Amino acid sequence: MSEPRVPMLDLRAQHAAIADEIAAALARVVASQRFVAGPEVASLEQAVATYCETDHAVACGSGSDALLLSLMDHGIGPGHKVICPAFTFFATAGAVARLGAEPVFADVDPDGLTLSVDSVKRAIDRAGRPDAIIAVHLFGRVAAMDELLALAGALGVPIIEDAAQSIGARDSAGLRAGSRGDGGCLSFYPTKNLGAYGDGGMILCRDAARADRLRVLRNHGATSPYQHDVSGINSRLDAIQAAVLLAKLPHLDAWTAARQGNAAAYQDALSVAGAGIGPGPFVGLGLPIRLPSAPPRPASHVFHQYVIRVPTEDRSALRAHLAREGVDTAIYYPIALHRQPCFAGLRGGIPSLPESEAAARECLALPVHAELGKDQQARVVAGLCEFFAR
Ligand SMILES: *Cc1c(COP(=O)(O)O)cnc(C)c1O
Repeated sequence: MSEPRVPMLDLRAQHAAIADEIAAALARVVASQRFVAGPEVASLEQAVATYCETDHAVACGSGSDALLLSLMDHGIGPGHKVICPAFTFFATAGAVARLGAEPVFADVDPDGLTLSVDSVKRAIDRAGRPDAIIAVHLFGRVAAMDELLALAGALGVPIIEDAAQSIGARDSAGLRAGSRGDGGCLSFYPTKNLGAYGDGGMILCRDAARADRLRVLRNHGATSPYQHDVSGINSRLDAIQAAVLLAKLPHLDAWTAARQGNAAAYQDALSVAGAGIGPGPFVGLGLPIRLPSAPPRPASHVFHQYVIRVPTEDRSALRAHLAREGVDTAIYYPIALHRQPCFAGLRGGIPSLPESEAAARECLALPVHAELGKDQQARVVAGLCEFFAR
């Protein structure tokens, strides 16, 4: 019998550890027979706003809807331009396109893989003043918010934070992901660091008037029953999801610490084997891979993904080798967004964004979830070392 696979995520193990708490939460909702919005959702909004160290939180149907609602709140629509990174999950730019606005792609910083401030400036030189900027806190690390806020402030342009992958992470000022811009978007998709048992999302903000507008927009634009001063969408969070998330939230810090511990263990084991840390060329290393660098305190990385950089020519063979050894890996994201067919017709032309393109060729995500065992992690490290020793 071969050993069980090392999975990218083990949600069954996570559930088993909290099954009683989840069962109690579900029973509470079933007994109440209040399945949409209601007190569970209001409690979750309060709890997440507190956890994320901000003032208001508005729950909605998904992280994608959180982005859509935030853009709608800023009046984004046809004829508008929104700068966003080319290296991110599709939803970031999809929300812009869905509103008839134009995504203007900027490159990422090679170290943190988050929006490059210089590239945003070049995008503005190329495409003109944007109507909004979306910063993505990719893989669990927060973008350069101080610099981006200064730039956006000078232009008088809102910044929306896509914090779908980074709940709880801190930026270089020690502030929580999603708490600084003009709308911090969270996703509770089951595979995220705080995952529901279905879809869910939330928007964080400091401005009470913005929170009120978002509550109207998520409910068909109704300002009072059957009175629609604006046209919104239907994007609700189910009470069942809110109850599950309320049960899971007290565990989030421990799960995050376990992810960070696993990342530190990879760094110890792989840097001894000669892997480099941070961006740079692959030549001259014992192990020709680059490990993600952790940002200096008070910033923190919550390792939604632990993403190494592998020479382009080795990536698929390495994945195949690890798969044969029973180790699952994933590629986030194989195609930079400015290269997606659906964006081929953008008016500004498709710029060359070399860091996003290199990341799409070189990134490989290793298992880093909280339930990953020491023996499982040792198999990942051994598989990597074996592959490059051949
Ligand atoms: C998951 C994710 C989203 C979308 O969230 P959903 O809840 O799946 O709609 C948006 N942006 C990023 C970066 C994500 O990882």
